[in-house]
Amino acid sequence: VQAFADLGVSKVRLTGGEPTVRPDFLQIVKTISKNASIKPIALSTNGYRLSRRVSSYFAAGIRHLNVSIDSLNPENFRKITGKDHLREILDGIDLALGLPFVAVKVNAVLTSKLIPDELALFTDWIKDRKVTVRFIELMPTRNSSNFAKEHFVKSSALASTLRENGWKAIKRQPTDGPAQVYEHISTQGRIGIIAPYEEGFCQSCNRVRVDAYGELQLCLWGRGKLSLRSLLQTDDQTNELKAVLVKQLQLKPPKHELHSGKHRGLSSLSTIGG
Ligand code: SF4
Repeated sequence: VQAFADLGVSKVRLTGGEPTVRPDFLQIVKTISKNASIKPIALSTNGYRLSRRVSSYFAAGIRHLNVSIDSLNPENFRKITGKDHLREILDGIDLALGLPFVAVKVNAVLTSKLIPDELALFTDWIKDRKVTVRFIELMPTRNSSNFAKEHFVKSSALASTLRENGWKAIKRQPTDGPAQVYEHISTQGRIGIIAPYEEGFCQSCNRVRVDAYGELQLCLWGRGKLSLRSLLQTDDQTNELKAVLVKQLQLKPPKHELHSGKHRGLSSLSTIGG
């Protein structure tokens, strides 16, 4: 953490898989939050433990919360996740809204079924909740290429539907990340659209990832990765680690190559997060 902080990293996101399955998850958050240069700490989670643990996440130092919910229809949710946890997760989000988190967001994959089947469920749900639901264009992985072909829909279709229903695009804020956010006069929550295929999507990207195996990944879809494990063994390796990071950061690709197909084929996003 100190090596990244010394190089100017100020925001850390703990993502997955599912970070909260680690027994030492809260300890990790507390350790990061002791570093005054790192603000804020964000968590991406499936939300299964939220209703029982959200207060402890906040107390440990999490300030931004992103919960993945791909459907608000209980039956569809069970089909997608194999679990019946939707109610518990939504209760957990309501508890989170009672705490002073800086932002509570929901991430959902944008599929062709969203607009006819589920958009109204999401817009109803956020009517009285300060939650930003962000729909992310479907990105194909090796395990989901057939599904992606069948269910891909361009985010412009969602943007048109929102505009037709009175939603207005708002000026992009730094905290919006890669999303174009929409608001509606009669709704407390917001809708965000993340469109990785759009020209310029990577323009302001300054993200790098360290995965659960200790590998540095300079781009979600880039080929290059480097194991940092041997440099993460003791505190006195910080300078050596920093020197390696400085060299690696210069190799960060300016954008993904999803259009040309020259990207590494991820088998799934579950070990690297979105
Ligand atoms: S695809 Fe790579 S360069 Fe583009 S936003 Fe994602 S991590 Fe950044």
